[in-house]
Amino acid sequence: MTAEGSATVSVDQLYEELESKLRQARPNEDLTPLKEAFDFAHGLHKDQFRDSGEPYMVHPLRVTHILADMQLDLVTLETGLLHDVVEDTSIKIEEIRKRFGDEVAHCVDGVTKLSKVQIYSREERQAESVRKMLLAMVGDIRVILVKLADRLHNMRTLGSLSPERQQRIGQETLEIYAPIAHRLGMGKMRGELEDLGFRYSDPEAWEDLSRQIEAKRLSSNEFLQQMRQTIVVKLSREHIPAQVEGRIKRVYSVHQKIRRQRIGLEQVYDILGLRIVTDSVKNCYAALGVIHNEWHPIPGRIKDFIAIPRPNLYQSLHTSVIGPGGVPFEIQIRTEEMHRIAEEGIAAHWKYKEGKRGMTQDDQRMAWLRQLVEWQREMRDPGDFMSTFKVDLYREEVYCFTPRGKVIVLPRDSTPIDFAYAIHTDIGHTCVGAKVNGRIVPLRTALRNGDVVEILTQAGHAPSKDWLSVVKTSRARNKIRHVINATERERAIEIGQKSLEKEARRLGVTLSRVSKEDLEKAISDYGCSKLEDLHASLGYGKFSARQVLQRFASPAQQAEPEPEVAKPAEALPRDGKDSDLVIRVKGMADLLIYRAGCCNPIRGEPIVGYITRGKGVGVHATTCPNVTSLLYDADRKIDVEWARAGGDTFPVHLNVYAEDRPGILNQLTSILTHEDSNIRSLEASTDDRRGGDCAMVDMRIEVRDKKQLERIMSAMRRLSGIRDVERVQ
Ligand code: MN
Repeated sequence: MTAEGSATVSVDQLYEELESKLRQARPNEDLTPLKEAFDFAHGLHKDQFRDSGEPYMVHPLRVTHILADMQLDLVTLETGLLHDVVEDTSIKIEEIRKRFGDEVAHCVDGVTKLSKVQIYSREERQAESVRKMLLAMVGDIRVILVKLADRLHNMRTLGSLSPERQQRIGQETLEIYAPIAHRLGMGKMRGELEDLGFRYSDPEAWEDLSRQIEAKRLSSNEFLQQMRQTIVVKLSREHIPAQVEGRIKRVYSVHQKIRRQRIGLEQVYDILGLRIVTDSVKNCYAALGVIHNEWHPIPGRIKDFIAIPRPNLYQSLHTSVIGPGGVPFEIQIRTEEMHRIAEEGIAAHWKYKEGKRGMTQDDQRMAWLRQLVEWQREMRDPGDFMSTFKVDLYREEVYCFTPRGKVIVLPRDSTPIDFAYAIHTDIGHTCVGAKVNGRIVPLRTALRNGDVVEILTQAGHAPSKDWLSVVKTSRARNKIRHVINATERERAIEIGQKSLEKEARRLGVTLSRVSKEDLEKAISDYGCSKLEDLHASLGYGKFSARQVLQRFASPAQQAEPEPEVAKPAEALPRDGKDSDLVIRVKGMADLLIYRAGCCNPIRGEPIVGYITRGKGVGVHATTCPNVTSLLYDADRKIDVEWARAGGDTFPVHLNVYAEDRPGILNQLTSILTHEDSNIRSLEASTDDRRGGDCAMVDMRIEVRDKKQLERIMSAMRRLSGIRDVERVQ
């Protein structure tokens, strides 16, 4: 028979072992779905082999064995068997969903996605971010557990790969996977991942150190056995039930300790030790008393992690004593429960060894995780626990990469613009587009975990106001606002200057003839220090050019009524019955509202509100240039709407240009009469700008809404001799 034939037997055997392992541990469980998952995966991986030459199916089976040893639920075990089918065969996740249900599909999908995470950098900080990302990318802790088991088996069989790949995968295991296991409190998993990772990432150091540790173990063996025997006898004399075991420090832990403390191996005196596992906390302390009665404790080396657990909930008593022959050695004392938590728990160590302090958000989350571990112990069925245990770590952050692999952490729903500003202000300012995972995307796209973001820039490009409503980071918002404020001020100055000149022409004021003193007085009267500020204020619409120029105009011109400039006097009724309101702010009842004088919106026109300082909400037509060019401050925009129709009317200012012939005024007024529109004022003059035979009729009328105004204007335009009708805004 060929190798394939005999190997097929071992695949089936492995499955049989899995089933019998489970039947023993949980006899009441229906293992049909597991068998189906096995048959399905086996069929798909049939013609695939691992680098070792084994049939591929051996791998998912071994992974599932690891998961079964961890006492995980059936969904996790099915995922273990199926974890590589989407990645390595033509099967789609929908197929998994159809056959094995949503939960299994979700987990398989999660494991597949995790396999696609590119690890770009080896720097410690980067690695930390990637670890976070791994946790964030999955909605279910089971995905991570399968991934860890997957990695563990791959590490156990790493020997058949090339030294380069061994080195890389070993390193990655040390940087990413072992810390995750550590964080989840899985001491055993972490220990094995670390030792294998160390072994393959630095084979020489590993070999050297393990040889030394082994030598020490051999030479101390007799000594340890003697100690152990003494302890067993003493404890039983005191009726303290206990398991006493020799304990050897992990190679990688020794390596780290030597490196961190810059000491030699001979100075690491907790390489070998004894561990006493007893039945109760009371007996832990009793055992400690027995030990200290027998041997002299080294001062300062007694640690009570039972009274004061480590931040990770690790509990134990540690003591170092001077043994026979003056040899120091360490004894750990704990209950079975404490032992199990240390080996398998989902609780996190992580923070403790990284030397961080204080109750961070992480710690709170971990406290929550620990709480779940507590629940797990109370629950008989591990499935109940696992299926309700959705990891929701870091959900308010997204982790994205630059094309070079730098991790950029942003708030949730951040856009490529936020990303650009996070890299550099200039990159933000000149950002014209973005590629996410190689594809061009709109700049308002919400970034997702793991996205690789490339920002396209163009020299000289300036940020757009629209960005303010899109960005999520205050950094981006501030930078954009800064640029826009500067450009808007320039524009406001320009607009203000123009409106001043225009109004001066209207009023017949020659600005150049105004004395310097008068001008300066006017400037300071309006709270400005120089002409430029006055221009800017006019441009921003703080007051009108007419107001400013009034004092320079002749009395006849002054008699002309003030236009409806934005001011509180124009405020629409806001108290009393709701029907009095012509405009209302969506969701708010008692804001002071006025129609902005610049555009004087009338019923039916699309409008937008803008919160002014101290004057309430100014309501503009959405087409108003002040809205589109000046009201850039997105935070101050507010939704408004026309309230239900009432009897109210709106003043509208019209300029009608007509041939200078008799009867035209009559025709115009009869249109207004027909439309039942009030005339507030009407004044005809010859319009020099359009030639001698042209008359300009300046009229202020009242209309009910936009439709009525449109009817009036088009009726006027249809009159013969009318050249143009324009609404003055
Ligand atoms: Mn795998």
